[in-house]
Amino acid sequence: MQLRLYDTLTKEKRPFTPLDPSNVRMYVCGPTVYDFAHIGNARPVIVFDVLFRLLRHIYGADHVTYVRNITDVDDKINDRAARDFPALPLNEAIRKVTELTEKQFHDDVDALGALRPTVEPRATEHIAEMRSIIEKLVQGGFAYVAEDHVLFSPQAMNAENSILPRYGALANRSLDEMIAGARVDVAPYKRDSTDFVLWKPAKPGEPSWPSPSGISVPGRPGWHIECSAMAWKHLGEQFDIHGGGIDLVFPHHENELAQSACAFHSDRMANVWMHNGFLQVESEKMSKSLGNFITIRESLADWPGEVLRLNMLKTHYRSPIDWTAKALEESAKTLDDWYEIAADVKADRPSDAVIDALSDDLNTPQMIAALHGLRNIAASGSDRDRGEFAATLRMLGFLSESAAEWKGRKQQASGVDAKQINDLISNRTAARARKDFKESDRIRDELAAMGVVIKDSKEGTTWEFAR
Ligand code: AMP
Ligand code: ZN
Repeated sequence: MQLRLYDTLTKEKRPFTPLDPSNVRMYVCGPTVYDFAHIGNARPVIVFDVLFRLLRHIYGADHVTYVRNITDVDDKINDRAARDFPALPLNEAIRKVTELTEKQFHDDVDALGALRPTVEPRATEHIAEMRSIIEKLVQGGFAYVAEDHVLFSPQAMNAENSILPRYGALANRSLDEMIAGARVDVAPYKRDSTDFVLWKPAKPGEPSWPSPSGISVPGRPGWHIECSAMAWKHLGEQFDIHGGGIDLVFPHHENELAQSACAFHSDRMANVWMHNGFLQVESEKMSKSLGNFITIRESLADWPGEVLRLNMLKTHYRSPIDWTAKALEESAKTLDDWYEIAADVKADRPSDAVIDALSDDLNTPQMIAALHGLRNIAASGSDRDRGEFAATLRMLGFLSESAAEWKGRKQQASGVDAKQINDLISNRTAARARKDFKESDRIRDELAAMGVVIKDSKEGTTWEFAR
């Protein structure tokens, strides 16, 4: 089935045709690295990982380039560095914060079964590309220098009568509306309220770089220009897919599109703009003040990463998702069952029904329905059926463990340790040897209460967790 994707810019689901099928190119906005990522941040990670896997399946694993950036220059990073490492010079403290947070992020998303992107560029390593785009924008008349800032002018962009997209098209807002709704306390160096920062002077002690466009004081980039620069460097002036959460549509993606289209005199930046819906927790917006803020790390202490992954995919990526303990419990049960049937099976080829579901704008609810169908066929079918089920789950980032490892982990999570079980079993064997059946039955019941089923045979007693 032909892959079709919903495009936020044109608001339609369209057949996907790569610019170059031998190198399909996708950019997704990554984390700002100053603290543990929360479970909402896990949504774009998982959604675009599934898309990456699907593209690799369709076009070949070596024919897809996935770029997810790391934003390592930001006020939140500077604040955190000053707070956590007050004795260090700020630049060193910042490096400590970003390196530590990047490592935490990688450990988290690895546990979620997400493949590493092809490239993970850091903003601070792309300052030259940012300066170069800014120079192009100033020369083209789309940006201007004022009080050591460089500002982009959406009004200059929309005054051009050319192939350029209209500023506001992505967010579906008109510039007039934006002007009317602008805040009153607009910075004095801005010509118009809708102008946004490409470059600004650095405060003393802050990380800074030589400024573009003849500005004599050192400065630092605005947030939006970072992504235009990194996408350009690694994917070219135009590429296939640009993704992120729905909150990024405006202003971040609108501004990225404006910068890249105006710098390269182009009618587009990406062919398809994709945005995942928001995640809320037990029907409430997740926030630190409500006390329902959950990091990926905390979730991983309660659930295996694959349970979080499956749970995330139960809802279509464009809909809001309600993250609940009840849904997580169900996802865990489903995976226990799938592991039992497929984990130790040799993988065959993935199922067309699942590829077809994903090809319809990543319809993961339909994908899961198809997986339940495959599961039923596998449970009573041939090795080939089980092989197809296993291959499909593996392709989707599941079954990274053996059935025994999966069970062992459950055992750890439930707080029961194997030594305790083995001790009870030897006590029971001893009781039986001295014909104390009352005691041996009591021990059997104690084990049953722990969820452990024992089997006696000539070779001795074995045990497993009850299904
Ligand atoms: P941030 O670090 O806040 O810029 O977010 C990194 C990524 O996570 C972006 O793609 C955001 O759109 C996405 N994101 C942030 N919060 C949520 C949420 N509650 N639900 C879904 N996606 C989110
Ligand atoms: Zn971005």
